[in-house]
Amino acid sequence: ASPSIPQLLSPQNATDLFHSVDAFLFDCDGVIWKGDKLIDGVPHTLEMLRSKGKKLIFVTNNSTKSRRQYAKKFHSLGIAVTEEEIFSSSFAAAMFLKVNEFPPEKKVYVIGEEGILDELELAGFIGLGGPEDGKKMVHLKPNYLFEHDKNVGAVVVGLDQYINYYKLQYATLCIRENPGCLFVATNRDAVGHMTDLQEWPGAGCMVAAVCGSTQKEPIVVGKPSTFMMDFLLKKYQISTSRMCMVGDRLDTDILFGKNAGCRTLLVLSGVTTQSTLQDPTNDILPEYFTSKISDLLNLLGP
Ligand code: PLP
Ligand code: CA
Repeated sequence: ASPSIPQLLSPQNATDLFHSVDAFLFDCDGVIWKGDKLIDGVPHTLEMLRSKGKKLIFVTNNSTKSRRQYAKKFHSLGIAVTEEEIFSSSFAAAMFLKVNEFPPEKKVYVIGEEGILDELELAGFIGLGGPEDGKKMVHLKPNYLFEHDKNVGAVVVGLDQYINYYKLQYATLCIRENPGCLFVATNRDAVGHMTDLQEWPGAGCMVAAVCGSTQKEPIVVGKPSTFMMDFLLKKYQISTSRMCMVGDRLDTDILFGKNAGCRTLLVLSGVTTQSTLQDPTNDILPEYFTSKISDLLNLLGP
C-alpha cells in the first residue's frame, strides 16, 4: 500500500498529537540547531513541552561529541537537559559493545573523533586511533611492513575530519586479519553540518572507504537502525505508539521513528524541503510536517 499523504500540522491535529504522546524524540541537527546555531524558538518550545509533562529525548547521529560534550553544547545554547536524555551515535557505539559483552581486555580501533573515544573510555573500553592517529606516517617504501595490534577486537568508524591512509590501513588490517573483529559504524549519513553555512561529507563516506577495502558491511548503530531505539526503550518504559519522532531527514529520522511504530513529525528547518517531501517517488513519509518545532507553541495555544 502506498503511504498516506503527510498532513500539515494544524491547531486541531497538533492538539490531537500532543494528547496522544508522552514523549518527544528530537533529532538534533536541523531540528534543535544547525551546526552551532540554535533554530528559532527552540528553548521556549522545549520548556513548554516539559511544563506539560512530556518526556524529551534527543537522538543525534553526529558521533563527534560524547553525551557529556552534548550536554555542554545544549547548556551553552540555553537548553536544560541531562546527559541521560541524550542518545548520540558515539554513545550507541560504546553501548553496542557493552550489550554484546565485548571483552574489556580487547581493544577498539577508532576512525572518528573525541566523542567516540570519550564514550568508549566511560564504558570501560580501551580505544586506539582517533583524531591524532597516523599524522606522522612515513612515506611508503617497497619493503615497509605495517604492524597493527592483533588484540583489536572491534573497529568503530564515525565522522573523522582527520581521516588518512594510515587509519584506513589500520582499520582494514584489524577487520581482515584479527579473527572475529567487529566492524561497527556510528552512522552512514552522506553529509553533515560541520559548519553552520555548509554541508560537509558525513560519516557515510568514511564507512564506505572501509567497506571498500574490507569488502565487509558494518553493523550500524545510529539512525535509522533500531539499536538506539531498542536501547532507549529499556531505559524509558514508554510505548512507542505514545512517542513522536521529530526529525528533518526522511531516510534517517522518519524511518527510525516509523520502524519503531512511533508517531512522526518532519520539520522543514533542516535538509528536507517541501518540494522533496512532495516528490512522488518518496516511500518514507512522515505522518505530519511543519516548518519548525516552535510552530507547536502557536498551534497548541496557551
Ligand atoms: N554526522 C555529522 C558529522 C554531522 O555533522 C551531522 C549534523 O551536523 C550529522 C551526522 C547528523 O546529525 P543529526 O542526527 O543530529 O541530524
Ligand atoms: Ca537531522
